[in-house]
Amino acid sequence: MARSPRFDLLFEPVRIGPKTARNRFFQVPHASGMTNANPHVRAAFRATKAEGGWGVVSTGACSVHPSSDDSPFPFASLWDEADVRAHAVMTEAVHAHGALAAVELWHGGAAAVNRTSRLAPLSPSGVPWMATHVGFMSAARPKVMDAGDIRDLIRWHAEAAMRAERAGFDILYVYAGMGYLPYQFLLEDYNRRSDAYGGSVANRVRLVEELIDAVREATHGRCAVALRMSLQELRTRPSEAAPSEAHEVITHLKDAPDLFDIKMDYSTADCAPSRYVAEGSHEPVVKFAKTLTDKPVVGVGRLTSPDTMVSMIRRGVLDLIGGARPSIADPFLPRKIYEGREDEIRECIGCNICISSWHDGVWVRCTQNPTAGEEWRRGWHPERVRKDATGTALVVGGGPAGLEAALTLGRRGYQVSLAEKAREFGGRLLWETRLPGLREWFRVADYRLGQLRKMPNVSLFPESDLTAGDVREFGADHVVIATGARWTANRCGANEIPAPPLDAPRIYTPDDIAAGVTIDGPVAVFDFDNYYMGSAIAEHLAGQGLATTYITTAGAAQAWGFMTNEQPLVHQAFLKAGIGYRTLEVVTDFDGATLTLAQIFTGERREIAAQSLVIVGQRAGGSALYDALRAEGTGFRSLELTGDANAPGAIAHAVWQGHRTAREVGLDAAGITVLRDAPFAPRDFAEPREAAQ
Ligand code: ADP
Ligand code: SF4
Repeated sequence: MARSPRFDLLFEPVRIGPKTARNRFFQVPHASGMTNANPHVRAAFRATKAEGGWGVVSTGACSVHPSSDDSPFPFASLWDEADVRAHAVMTEAVHAHGALAAVELWHGGAAAVNRTSRLAPLSPSGVPWMATHVGFMSAARPKVMDAGDIRDLIRWHAEAAMRAERAGFDILYVYAGMGYLPYQFLLEDYNRRSDAYGGSVANRVRLVEELIDAVREATHGRCAVALRMSLQELRTRPSEAAPSEAHEVITHLKDAPDLFDIKMDYSTADCAPSRYVAEGSHEPVVKFAKTLTDKPVVGVGRLTSPDTMVSMIRRGVLDLIGGARPSIADPFLPRKIYEGREDEIRECIGCNICISSWHDGVWVRCTQNPTAGEEWRRGWHPERVRKDATGTALVVGGGPAGLEAALTLGRRGYQVSLAEKAREFGGRLLWETRLPGLREWFRVADYRLGQLRKMPNVSLFPESDLTAGDVREFGADHVVIATGARWTANRCGANEIPAPPLDAPRIYTPDDIAAGVTIDGPVAVFDFDNYYMGSAIAEHLAGQGLATTYITTAGAAQAWGFMTNEQPLVHQAFLKAGIGYRTLEVVTDFDGATLTLAQIFTGERREIAAQSLVIVGQRAGGSALYDALRAEGTGFRSLELTGDANAPGAIAHAVWQGHRTAREVGLDAAGITVLRDAPFAPRDFAEPREAAQ
């Protein structure tokens, strides 16, 4: 299909200092969990986006010196020639697809407490970055940088810039955002210095200016220099010289970098979950910067609609369409727009499983794109599957796993039949996405159904509750069972030991609520699953006017929501909805009127009034259908169990399982390759004299 001319604007080249981006699609730096220990994994992940049409592809934050060590979180480095070699694998792959390669030079300052290098963390004034989550806490406190430390910091950036150029990067970032060291200099709460780097805004901005100059001079103006800034806090600070300190900072720096990349100050606002924050939420702060500089500006906001993108450019919000999550969910987003296939975009759902991967210390995972992070290890491409199959395949169950399995089997060339018991396809998504804030998650089903309906070799059979006999009679060569999981009423006891269900009236699971059971209030939700289901059900019940109390074994509501940046927003939503919550407690008894709770550490008992109890804890997989088919001897070329029926988990896990199953159907083990990456050894790469001096 031809591209609509209204999107032509998105494909105009943009000059960024000495470089020119081929279009306005700019994959901004984002965490991928991929470090210099996995150079080929990282290169393939980034190169796939270049292949998908992004004009600029950035690698994630890259430490300029061992005094910026983020361990145990995964981070990249540009410390020596081995690191240069590791990054060159990525830049070569990105260039091969016609994109520019960018690198975010990073010093974390007080926010990186150097757990591995054990060097003293650096800071403008010894003020620590205080984490409220145990995942980030540390007993180490930063030192106050003296004049020599500041000179070192500037030199480290210059040296890292030279290495970055040798590694093949076109755009080099100075990073003054998200609580990291140059940001700490900008904000007077961290910067209490009385020298030339503290006090007035002109003094606080000096370090950023000098870093930009140092990076530019180190590469003799050959590379473009980008400045990434967070302005949320600065915009709230009054200034005598301007409407805010942010005005002063941008006005001061307006001609310094070749590009401004504007982001939010905190991860929960920058990478906000769709459950609570809409697409385009960054717009006010990005537009603010754009009004004060003539340099190109890039901004994000989980942008997936080309019409929104065009409108933002026309309205003067930004010049380049920044993408982090949209580029993970669909590396081919630009190319699909270019080719007039925008209806094929696999739109990000804003679930933030991707950022949870970084918190988990592993390569990026994505709910929408099961191939993310698997491009090199398993050779999975987001758009192409080897068309190697003949014969027929029956997929039973049309939830995320079954839909993904059917799509991938169809792409491989099988004649696919997808049978679903319900009238609609979508499985767990059908009900879950009716819970407060989760509507966008239905994109997981919408994208797949949209593709499946176009495929001549795929037939969809709704309202088909298949028995083992039906499956046999159907006579497909390959059978994939993706019939999902169910929630149990099992409890969790003290010391996290599982406890059996209680024998009491009005005890429900999420499946009962999905089935439409009427709940009597007041209601208590006991959550030891700790992902979204417990808090979403509490919001759902409170939204029906029921007095709702949320109880968890953890220290905060939706404890795992820390991983997906949801936790603070869940607490805000609870406050707004009047949901009471109790932490560090287990349910020990319930008689239909009184709920007995025990504190998990002390055993101290409390009673609260409740007519109903909803338990959000364990899910059970397994499939009677699969077991019956196996017991009877298969008679098929293959029989697979996948998705939640195989092992219950987040939607991302079901999609990944469904994808993997479909990739591997009909192959023997020898046909399945999983590669192991390895770092380049520093001893093999001598530091050139220019950088060592
Ligand atoms: P997953 O996340 O693994 O995809 P879901 O629970 O979302 O799991 O989806 C499983 C789907 O399987 C549900 O839509 C359910 O209606 C369907 N299903 C379960 N048993 C059968 C069956 N015997 N025949 C057809 N569909 C079934
Ligand atoms: Fe978007 Fe979720 Fe994928 Fe992240 S994991 S890119 S939020 S769909």
